[in-house]
Amino acid sequence: MKITDNLLKQMYAHATEAYPRECFGFLVGTPENGGWVRRVVRGTNLNTDRTDRFEMDPLEFVKTARAAEDDGFDIIGFYHSHPDWLAIPSQTDILSEVEGSLYVIVAVHQGHPHNTGVWIIADDAPRRFVQLPLEIVDERELEND
Ligand SMILES: [Zn+2]
Repeated sequence: MKITDNLLKQMYAHATEAYPRECFGFLVGTPENGGWVRRVVRGTNLNTDRTDRFEMDPLEFVKTARAAEDDGFDIIGFYHSHPDWLAIPSQTDILSEVEGSLYVIVAVHQGHPHNTGVWIIADDAPRRFVQLPLEIVDERELEND
């Protein structure tokens, strides 16, 4: 998955602000070649009962998808944070995963973004996540695109 340093920092800022709760957001871009994130859109975490869960607002999904399509992009995945935990999918993440979507998980340790994992559900059964490489793209590459 390709992303610029600037967009990565936007996710880190969101994860830091949300700490100790989980943040949630949308990855907007193009799906080819493992995915290219062109925009990061903050979402609302509807779950207020627990700090280790997130729940998407379906209306927000539709609005974000429409805005993305207007610019020739799609929602290619989601990001959320794991406060004081690892950047690997939890059991809940495996159950909630949307087929074919990228899942970016930002581990936040004591309020500071620690590392990032990019995951996607494998095509083969049983249902499991596989990790994808994260490629930081230079902003200037986007300008030439
Ligand atoms: Zn999770």
